[in-house]
Amino acid sequence: MYTRILYKKAYRLLKDSTPLKFDCGLICSSKCCSGDSDMGMYIYPGEEVMFEGHEDFLFIRQDKLRDTDVLFAVCNGKCNRRYRPLACRIFPFTPYIDEKGRLTVIEDPRAKYICPLLSGSIDLGIDTAFKRNVLNAFRALIRDDEIRRFICLLSSALDEYRKLTG
Ligand code: SF4
Ligand code: SF4
Repeated sequence: MYTRILYKKAYRLLKDSTPLKFDCGLICSSKCCSGDSDMGMYIYPGEEVMFEGHEDFLFIRQDKLRDTDVLFAVCNGKCNRRYRPLACRIFPFTPYIDEKGRLTVIEDPRAKYICPLLSGSIDLGIDTAFKRNVLNAFRALIRDDEIRRFICLLSSALDEYRKLTG
């Protein structure tokens, strides 16, 4: 119940909030929605409480992040945005918790080779209000210990990814 309240709040904070003031999918033919079956997104811990049966566009499977069991979703490339998972709502950003336990929002290094807003191929600044809303959403979510732990784990996995990809 508590988790649902947190996710409802996060979804509300991100409602109508997008990287640009217009649909950025128009500049890249929605590249982040056009992956193959190896591409997808983590479902944040407990987020499945928000799924009420409208999510037939998602294929959710058990996966591992390091040694931890997580849920991972792949989609069919078309969805009702109202029901899309949190990871899609915040793309191309990701929450990050540093070694001092501070929460920030960073450009997702995994998105660098997908999203033209990060690759520098298109010179359009991401709306600062969007980034602020993502941060506020995660400030609410990390009140849940499991979500905080997951973001710590994700952050160290992203550090490793950055080291490997330069
Ligand atoms: S890849 Fe980037 S620019 Fe394209 S739709 Fe996704 S977030 Fe927008
Ligand atoms: S669930 Fe929707 S927003 Fe997310 S990648 Fe798939 S089509 Fe795009």
